[in-house]
Amino acid sequence: MYTCAVRPEIASLSAYVPGMSIAEVRERYGLSRVIKMASNENPLGVSPLVRKVLATSLEEAFRYPQGGNPALREALARAHHVSPERIVVGNGSDEIIDMLIRMLAVPGRHSVVCFEPCFSLYPIQARICGVETRRCPLSPDYSFDLDALFSLVDTGTRLVFVTTPDNPSGYCPPLAAMRRLAEQLERHFPRCLLVVDEAYMDFAGASCGDTSRFSLLASGDLPANVAILRTFSKSYGLAGLRLGYEVLPAELAGFYWRARLPFSVNSLAEKAGLAVLRDSEFRRATLECIRSGRCRLTEGLRLLECDVWPSEANFLMIRLPEGYDASSCFEHLLQCGIIIRPLSSYGMPDKLRISIGTKEDNEAFLEALRECPAYTLLYQFSPKDTGQSKVK
Ligand code: PMP
Repeated sequence: MYTCAVRPEIASLSAYVPGMSIAEVRERYGLSRVIKMASNENPLGVSPLVRKVLATSLEEAFRYPQGGNPALREALARAHHVSPERIVVGNGSDEIIDMLIRMLAVPGRHSVVCFEPCFSLYPIQARICGVETRRCPLSPDYSFDLDALFSLVDTGTRLVFVTTPDNPSGYCPPLAAMRRLAEQLERHFPRCLLVVDEAYMDFAGASCGDTSRFSLLASGDLPANVAILRTFSKSYGLAGLRLGYEVLPAELAGFYWRARLPFSVNSLAEKAGLAVLRDSEFRRATLECIRSGRCRLTEGLRLLECDVWPSEANFLMIRLPEGYDASSCFEHLLQCGIIIRPLSSYGMPDKLRISIGTKEDNEAFLEALRECPAYTLLYQFSPKDTGQSKVK
């Protein structure tokens, strides 16, 4: 007999809730075509250059990757104009988040600070590590009160996590405010690292490619106490291969390589990362698809009287018109073969998050939403009639 006796932190853990998968929905509803707009993946799929490189890299799969992934680090260093000694890579940025907490915070003694709600992995991994998480509520409009966040930091705080653009709202704080937070932390708490999670930064702004107005990394002037997290899962379309990276102080990067499990970035992920960094046409097409889709979806959702929060990311946070239930709408969309993300696991049961899709995905989503029983009652005319008018 075995009596399972896990640590109390694990016994009471609420696990990370991922978006539903296409396979799950196909099986549950017997559907042949399912559109996933739930996990902020790249709607254009895999870059053509990555496909080519992966096909020819398979024969190398029996070998271990090169320790420390130097080729990828050098390519990233060139892309961001920083030294390769400041770059670490991981099995998704998830791995790097976990590593940072384990490396910097002593269980029972140190704390991490983040907003509530926020990307749930920060508090989950802290809990697994036995590290206290202090949460600062978001402002009512989902913007950041960085002074309130700072007020939670003390000499035992080792990490402050800020996501920009934020998940799930898409909010992007002014760059000057982020710089001020970094300065305050450096002056008062020099042992505290500010981790700015820029997973969605590529999508910020209305025109392609220039994020220097939003990103501490792209601004070319990264404060010494700041680490920037990035991922290949979103704009680069490699979520399934698991590849993330971080620009951080060089000394800390040295410790990361000592502490990390060897080879956590596999050789195919590394090859794919190198290839997609060279695929400028895929990047241009991705950013164009997201920016135009974000405008179109915002407009379509507002026509359906949803509240849509302004977003700099590849998703939109919405609230249905008063009286409409988010979970029945989610269920209706599933039956139509469209997966979106209910935000109940973020503590916001009245809100939904929709990842921007291709033109066709976005139209299919809007059409399915209009056909939601609540909406067919609400609108008199056919969904395609642009002159819709409300009847009640
Ligand atoms: N940070 C944020 C804000 C995210 O939303 C996500 C993915 N949902 C991640 C990090 C993790 O990304 P990865 O796939 O690189 O582990």
